[in-house]
Amino acid sequence: MNESVQLQAIKNLYTKTNPIIMNRTYILSFFLIIASSLSAQDMLNESPLISPPPAGRVEVTYIANSGFMFTAGNTRVLIDALYLDGDIWETPSKKLQKAMTTGSAPFKNINYFLVSHYHDDHFNATLMSRYLVNNPKTTLITNMQTDSVMKRILKQDPELKRPDQMKIIDLPMFGSETFEADQFKVKFLAQRHMGKDDYKVQSLGFLIEMGGKKMIHIGDAGWEDENFVGYKLQDENIDVAFIHYWFLLDCEGRRIIENYIKPKKIVITHIPYDELRRNYKRIKEYYPDVEVFLNHMDKKIY
Ligand SMILES: [Zn+2]
Repeated sequence: MNESVQLQAIKNLYTKTNPIIMNRTYILSFFLIIASSLSAQDMLNESPLISPPPAGRVEVTYIANSGFMFTAGNTRVLIDALYLDGDIWETPSKKLQKAMTTGSAPFKNINYFLVSHYHDDHFNATLMSRYLVNNPKTTLITNMQTDSVMKRILKQDPELKRPDQMKIIDLPMFGSETFEADQFKVKFLAQRHMGKDDYKVQSLGFLIEMGGKKMIHIGDAGWEDENFVGYKLQDENIDVAFIHYWFLLDCEGRRIIENYIKPKKIVITHIPYDELRRNYKRIKEYYPDVEVFLNHMDKKIY
């Protein structure tokens, strides 16, 4: 499916007004998209979130892969949650993608949408462009590399441009910047993506303060010292760290956690579930309190 056909199909699917004319391309694209995003973990909890969590607590909802929603008081944040097809990785169901993109329950009134990097299992530029149009009160915050992928899509469809809803973090590798708004603070950490192939990819880490809690989400950051040493996270007294699966299995990753992050609690992200069965015991030996979200839309309160 080429980009413009895909763009048109997504535009029709996620626009708030239903398309009346359905041509063959649209129908074909529709089924291709549906087929590409069926997920083993496709268990949407139908009951929408009605009341916010108690004061001093944060409600965390698992979307898929590294995608989460944080809710505290009137602040609601999505992270790495909206993408079309994560290939071998967990992907939000079509229904969830549509609920997010149209800003329907349980994704109403999102204040900030954070994206760590542009990879397909964390982000999709076409869906995000449509998202911003449908959710004019949401601000997307991401880095320059993700923005350049957005620009390619917006060139094809300039009417989707929403520059006032985008805050682009322009940081050199290992730099940081803090953003603060009412009841929400985030420090952006410009970290290097794990793996040799992605050496040039910048993955934004997010040190988030909301609902009286401090949480870190490290995207797909690698476990080298430079990615952490300058940030002094060990002094931050972090409540919950959202850390990807391989980080916990590698002794270098564990060394980084123990020396530079020191969180009170760890939530595993980016999980290959069939491998988890094999390795969960091993992870538990090092981190007995580690937590895993098994189903899409599962919630926990911290
Ligand atoms: Zn990645």
